[in-house]
Parts: sequence; C-alpha cells; structure tokens
Amino acid sequence: MAPSAVRSRINPLTPRALGEDEILQTIEDFGTAAALAREAGYDGVEVMGSEGYFLNQFTAARTNQRTDSWGGSAENRRRLPVEVVGRVRKRCGPDFIIAYRISVLDLVEGGNSWPDVAALAKDVEASGANILNTGIGWHESRVPTIAHMVPRGAFTWAIKRLKAEVAIPVVASNRINTPEQAEQLIAHGQADMVSLARPLLADPDFVAKAASGASSKINTCIGCNQACLDNAFTGRLTTCMVNPAACREVEFKIVPATRGKCIAVLGGGPAGLACAVTAAERGHKVALFEADIDIGGQFNLARRIPGKEDYAETIRYFRNRLDELGVEVHCGRPASLADLESGGFDEIVVATGVRPRHLDVPGADHPSVMTYVEAITDTARVGAEVAIVGAGGIGFDVATLLSHPHGPHDPSHPDIEGFSSEWGIDLSYTQPGALLPANHQWSSSRKIHLLQRKPRASFGASLSKTRGWANFLEVMFRGVTMTGDVTYRKIDDAGLHIEAGGKPQTLKVDTIVVCAGQESADDALSLARSLGKPVHAIGGVDKPQQLDAVRAIEDGMRLALSL
Ligand code: SF4
Repeated sequence: MAPSAVRSRINPLTPRALGEDEILQTIEDFGTAAALAREAGYDGVEVMGSEGYFLNQFTAARTNQRTDSWGGSAENRRRLPVEVVGRVRKRCGPDFIIAYRISVLDLVEGGNSWPDVAALAKDVEASGANILNTGIGWHESRVPTIAHMVPRGAFTWAIKRLKAEVAIPVVASNRINTPEQAEQLIAHGQADMVSLARPLLADPDFVAKAASGASSKINTCIGCNQACLDNAFTGRLTTCMVNPAACREVEFKIVPATRGKCIAVLGGGPAGLACAVTAAERGHKVALFEADIDIGGQFNLARRIPGKEDYAETIRYFRNRLDELGVEVHCGRPASLADLESGGFDEIVVATGVRPRHLDVPGADHPSVMTYVEAITDTARVGAEVAIVGAGGIGFDVATLLSHPHGPHDPSHPDIEGFSSEWGIDLSYTQPGALLPANHQWSSSRKIHLLQRKPRASFGASLSKTRGWANFLEVMFRGVTMTGDVTYRKIDDAGLHIEAGGKPQTLKVDTIVVCAGQESADDALSLARSLGKPVHAIGGVDKPQQLDAVRAIEDGMRLALSL
C-alpha cells in the first residue's frame, strides 16, 4: 500500500492506493505502536520518514498523486507525517522522546524541494517531535549515499542548513565512521548529534573506545556493504565483513584456549590477520610471516582504488591488535624452513592468499601485458589506452583506478564538491530532490576497454548487490567501453586481437591488464607440511574461486576459534 499506485523502480510490485479510512487507521497504528514501546520500557521512538519509505512517499509529489486532502499541495502531502507525530505525542505523553527521521535530500526526480523539507521540519517540530534525525536519498536514488565511494560527511552541508530552521536537535547520519569526524561535526555546529549504524556492526565497542580516547583501536566500517546490506537484501543474516562476530556473537565468542599453543601464520592478508589476532586473543602464542614488506595482502591493493581508501583503516586496526597482543610479525620475506623449524610451532596456518592467473593466449608475455597487481601498484607504467581482460570485481576496480583523473584521496580531506558535481547533487538546493540534470560524461584519464567472455548483459553481475550499480555507473560515466562475448586471439605489437560477438577486431592499446581470475598461492603448503605438524589452509589458498574478503576474514576467525 502507498499514497498512490506508483511502482518503485526497485520493486517488482505496484502498490495499491490507501483509502481515507486506512490512512486514519495508519495514524492510529503509529500511536498504538509507540504506546506499546513506552509500555515495554522504551524512553522514545523514531518515526521513519525518510529513504523513500511510507511517510516519505506521502511527502513527495513523485509518489503522492492523490487529489484528496492527503495529496496535491505540499501542505497536504506532509499532513500524514505531521499527524502521525502528533498522535504518537498524544498517546505517549509529554515526557517521551520522539525522533522524526526526515529525508533532507530525496535525490530522486520529483523529490521534495528545500522549502518543502524546511516546512515539514517545522511542522513535525510543532507537532511534538523532540529530535530530527536525517536520512539522505531514497533507496531507488541513482546517487550513492552510504557506499564506500561516498566521501565522509558528504551531506553535512544539508544537515547544517536544516539545523538553522528548527530549535530541536538535529542529528547527522550517512558515512560518519570515525569519532573524530563526529566530534568535528558537532564542534563546528553542523549537527547537534550523530547517528551511526554500520560502524557499530564493525565495532560494538566504538563508543567505549571513543570515550576512552582510544579511537585508533576502533575497527572502522569501510562502507563495503558486503556483509551487512548485501546480506540483508538477499535474505541472509546481517553481519560485517571486518567483524564476522556481528550478530553472531555467541557463535564467534572468544573463548580462552584450553591449552596454549605456539602457532605460525604464514600470510598477512585479511585471512591471516584475522586468524593471528583471534588465536592470540584466545591465549595462543602467535608468529605471523608476510612475504611482502607490509601486512594487508589484498587490502593493500584495495586501498589504492579511488573510493576504497578506507580499507587502509582495517590494516591499521589489525596492526594495532597484533601489537597489543604481542604477535611476532615478520615482514619482507616468506617464512623459511629454518624459521618454522626453530620456532617450535605446534600448528601452522597457511594463509598466503592468491596470485593473478595468467592469460592463456599467444603473446601473453608481450611487454604491454601487466597483471592487475602491477597495474594497481604502478599506474605510471600504464599507457593512455588500456584493455582490461576480465570484468569481475577486480576488473571494475582496475577500471575505476585507471580512469580516475586524480586517483585515491585522503579520506580525512574529502572532496565533497567533486563528488556532488559528478553525481549531480545540487549543493545550492534549488532543484526538487536536490538533483541536478544528469551528467553522464565524467572526466577520464585514459581510454579504457573492459572486456569479458560472458555476454554484455552480465556486466557487473558479480558486484555487490547494494553498491555494484554505483561501481558500474562510475566506470560507465568515465567512458569505459564494455564489451562482452569476447574471445581473446593473440597479443602483439599491434595490440590485443579479439573476436567480439564473432567479429574479429584489433584493439590498438598500449597496455593490457589481466584480471582473469586468481589461483592459489600455495607454495608454502608443501614447506609447512614437511614439518610433520598439523597444517591448515585458509582463505584463497584453500579456495581461490570467488574469493572475497568476507570469506577470507571469516575463514581466519573460524579456524582460530577451533585451534
Ligand atoms: Fe561497514 Fe562493510 Fe561491515 Fe557493512 S560489512 S558494517 S559496510 S565494514
């Protein structure tokens, strides 16, 4: 049911328009639900009026096409939320907290104008709300609002503007993931409070750590959506990539080991780090060996992708934990037989991850060919015209990096103007929904062809359910051409020879970046097994196919809980 029979583009069903009697009953139901909450001991409730949900649908002309007293003028359209807040106040008394979550920016065509939003804020305040929480963007908005490419604090300009309209406290939300940023928003008068959700999945001790001045110990939410929203929208349990224990606290409880063992962990990527930290938390003596000069593994690549800079925070978190727990960390060379023999280890964990799979076509050793690791870590070597072979998550990451005019940025100095201008957010808020006319031609630093063997229609299908669309649009708006049904024939001085849809062609490119999957980097397995001790393989060493950090970190933690 909805104000009018208007189907959302993200919902397969067309709703039925509510009758007048049903609207009145709905107001009553909000009041009853709040009264029950009070009876159950709650100090307050939040009335959800944002993100394109029911009350927000009434306020926007886009979805409210009614001609009765609940639609038409902006005043009629905001009548329902105002009456709901009033009924909750009446049913729950004057000393009950009512927060109203208002949609500050709808970010959809036909969304509310700034005067409509300001008037709604004033009316719900007059109707009895004590606090205004703020929501940004409808679910069907084509502007990302919480995913990793959204700069920290991207929408606080609008929240500050709302704060000037009302006397009650205004709460900032969306992509606030550090206490320092929250503190700054309040100190600079941009908001009175902040609300966090995902950061508390990533670290349930966020508040305690912030309050005790230990913010560097916080396991930071990196905006990936991969285990929280992706799971929620596919019917799976909401949890967190960087904290697999979220919502599974009993299953992942850290129980002291019955016998302290000496454990060697080979590989300092996400799986190895999670395993080493959890094993040490259980009381085992742990040594971690990483062949690279630093810990981080695939996260050291991810943090170089524009929009994924926060992945460095996970490395910082693990580094601090290793240090606090006294884990011996050896970086810069793989563990040798002598290391493993002299360490007196009871068990060995091999978490050495994956290596890029080579392309099996004639000319694959041509100087123009690079692995994705080489392209990400040495962009200066990449030419002006590039073919990316493989359009999975890594192919899209490489396309994002190589097409981006500036590369990764410092997340503590977010480029909010640049982000807003590219995604069409109207910082002056003169347009309905704060949406500027679409700009689908972003600047790009290279000409890029993204290729895959699968059909064109499946481009982006392997990306995150709740943010993959934004990754796809970023690459498309930077002019990356996407070609499916590709057969790779050969590589020579003329470029990459392919057949696309059965038609032969030569892409005259300077660089060919291979993102054609990964294989297990399992060289250390036979070394570990030669010692005759129990050996465990986790993460990409165990199963390189469809490896992602959610599985890698969970694998590491699960194994450590069983040691
Ligand atoms: Fe944050 Fe990713 Fe964890 Fe979700 S899964 S809470 S976005 S770190």
